[in-house]
Amino acid sequence: MSDLDFVSGSKPIALERGEGPFLYTADGTEYLDAGASFACTPLGHCHPDVVEAVQEQVGELTFVDSSFPVQAREDAYAAFVASTPDGLESAWFCNSGTEANEAALKFARSATGESKIVAATRSFHGRTMGSLAATWKDKYKKPYEPLIGDVEFVPYGDADELADAVDDETAAVILEPIQGEGGINVPPAGYLETARDLTDEVGAALVLDEVQTGMGRTGSMWACQNAGVTPDVLTTAKGLGNGLPVGGVAVQEWIADGAASHNSTFSGGPVVAAAVHATVSTLVEEEYHAHAAAMGDYLRTELEAAVGDEIREVRGEGLLVGLELKRGANRAARDLAMNHQVLALPAGRTVLRLLPPLVIDESHADRLVTALEAVLASTD
Ligand SMILES: *Cc1c(COP(=O)(O)O)cnc(C)c1O
Repeated sequence: MSDLDFVSGSKPIALERGEGPFLYTADGTEYLDAGASFACTPLGHCHPDVVEAVQEQVGELTFVDSSFPVQAREDAYAAFVASTPDGLESAWFCNSGTEANEAALKFARSATGESKIVAATRSFHGRTMGSLAATWKDKYKKPYEPLIGDVEFVPYGDADELADAVDDETAAVILEPIQGEGGINVPPAGYLETARDLTDEVGAALVLDEVQTGMGRTGSMWACQNAGVTPDVLTTAKGLGNGLPVGGVAVQEWIADGAASHNSTFSGGPVVAAAVHATVSTLVEEEYHAHAAAMGDYLRTELEAAVGDEIREVRGEGLLVGLELKRGANRAARDLAMNHQVLALPAGRTVLRLLPPLVIDESHADRLVTALEAVLASTD
């Protein structure tokens, strides 16, 4: 098995049970989950609020399509929209992150009547044809070309290059507030504000992809709130249903008014809606974004003290953490898992990504740091 197989293929760890930040194999071996399967379980595994809501809903009404009003769906929409910045007033649920971005690009085109999409280098927006066209890496795109046209890439974080690219023919600028798959890249202060101003000037839509950054992880419910920027379209998925498959798109009124026909059969099904409502309500009511900020600070301080000399840089905000290593991240992730029972994720060749559930406490952070210290100190 190659190192790459370890992250993208099957890991030799057969998991049977999850609870909070821990996963267990059949023989009871405990793993600390500091990857949360790509940020999909912000409340930890099998959070009782979500489990109860889903179990109740699946036995009451598993599914009817979105043409029928259902309380669970209305509650989910209300909780989701209320959690987003003021100005985002309508929402639509889908089944994944790529579908959320696919919808965002369609909405931007229909609302503006323009077609050009401006995206960033090192972006990741998903693997369906439209979202893939706005994704940077050739490895994901080349075998499937031609994708949708009219996408221009600009260097992420460079405000001048963005200004040059955004014009009257632009339908949307799509950006991650902090890039996830691309290596936990935090843009310079003021970059998202510039993107907001530029899109306002030409009447284009600012689409912020919060599929990975959202749900309290960066210290605010949504990372755009850290920058004080409200997009025209906010997309999310991953943690939205604490592990159930659901994506969400929240939009400003002019986008909703300009949206042409778009839907999906499973949109806002009652079971995933129950999961969304429970997840968002619990995150908001228990202020997990504040806990994520505090734990992020703690983790960063401990990491700097323990392994600061062994690594090049610590990046990110809150519990979205990237460590720029001096060696391969795949091997470090593998070593952490196999020898220390800690699950982390690579993000590119040399960045180790930590996306623990937001429910971790200092003892979990300490265990993570101790394991990392051992892995980075080993010379083999
Ligand atoms: C994972 C991810 C996506 C794609 O989400 P899927 O649910 O896998 O389709 C899109 N954007 C970002 C920022 C992501 O991290």
